[in-house]
Amino acid sequence: MSAIETLFTRAKLADGSIKDIGVADGRIVSIEPTGSIVAAGAIIELEDALVVPGFVEGHIHLDTSFYGDAWIPHKPCTNGFDVHERVAFQAENMAQAAPMDVRARKQLDLCIANGSTHMRSHVMVDGSVGLKSLETVLAVRQEYRGLIDIQLVAFPQSGILKSPGTPQLMDEAIAMGADLVGGLDPASFDRDVEKHLDVVFGVAEKHGVGVDIHLHDGGTLGLFTIEQICARTRALSMGGHVTVSHAYGLGDLSIDAAKRAAALLADSGVSIMTNAPGNHPFPPVALLRSAGVTVFSGSDNIRDSWWPYGDGDMLGRTMMIGYRSGFYTDDELRAAFDVVTESGARALRLKDYGLRVGAKADFVTLNAEHVPEAVVAVPKGRSVYKAGKLVARDGAVLRN
Ligand SMILES: [Zn+2]
Repeated sequence: MSAIETLFTRAKLADGSIKDIGVADGRIVSIEPTGSIVAAGAIIELEDALVVPGFVEGHIHLDTSFYGDAWIPHKPCTNGFDVHERVAFQAENMAQAAPMDVRARKQLDLCIANGSTHMRSHVMVDGSVGLKSLETVLAVRQEYRGLIDIQLVAFPQSGILKSPGTPQLMDEAIAMGADLVGGLDPASFDRDVEKHLDVVFGVAEKHGVGVDIHLHDGGTLGLFTIEQICARTRALSMGGHVTVSHAYGLGDLSIDAAKRAAALLADSGVSIMTNAPGNHPFPPVALLRSAGVTVFSGSDNIRDSWWPYGDGDMLGRTMMIGYRSGFYTDDELRAAFDVVTESGARALRLKDYGLRVGAKADFVTLNAEHVPEAVVAVPKGRSVYKAGKLVARDGAVLRN
């Protein structure tokens, strides 16, 4: 065991036990009953607070939020929800907003203060903005590297086939430092599932990176697209590296059809991201989990052109997932919590995650008796530790 630099005493773990957590070089080196470890370094008394792993914010858009900027009233679509029209509204709003780096920092501070220690953000890469947004967000990621770990997805917000030059831009985005290749409604947006997925999986295979595709299409069209994504994932042996975000279509299926889709997703190693969206059908979280599908979550849009909601709180997100899923028992509430912690870590392929010896010391303290209570009460007054250092307390990010 390495010499303990910081000993966190009286931490209440999820099983109710009170432990001392020893940290050295940013990692957990011991977890033992309180009082059994003698440390020479700093001692931080946690006063029986519930200690949980840092939250995984698995889907957010750092480039498009107006959080912390002037309030921009939501403009409804002319004729029901239309992704094309929403993209056009977004371009109008972005032109009047504060600089992207300023807005991205505000959103990051919000997420970190609420307890997220890991994040996956989609960033627009397409013919309309080129690589400019990615350049900005890459620089902000570098600034925040001691506070939160961030994966970036090259996201073709204007389509891949419909937006000239986008296939080449996706390739350049990965070469520049984006971690995954994104996609957007291959059928309804680009009108060609095969050609859209040819580009997404082609770039991913070339660079050996993962895929995370936005799929809003519902019903059989959504299911058909999911089947094609699963087929590609299996053909390229990319199980565990592919996500379908939203997958609203899974919420439209009969139980039998949903079970078949779940078996296919589990067998293919394709994860599902859901944010338990407002009034949309959304994936059946319990059914998918019981089939072995990794289901994780994210805030998605925070106060942007798509909707005015979002607070960057993944604990609050667990409550929404549980609420919309009809989760009442303690086991169900724990499952909702798992979606924003361990399952998120699995989907993002995070190494060294969790409250265990050898993992990075990324954790959050909560004023709650246990995890089920934390999910329903969403307590504030949290302390957030990244690599054993206090990075946020009571809703504010601390620097130094
Ligand atoms: Zn999104």
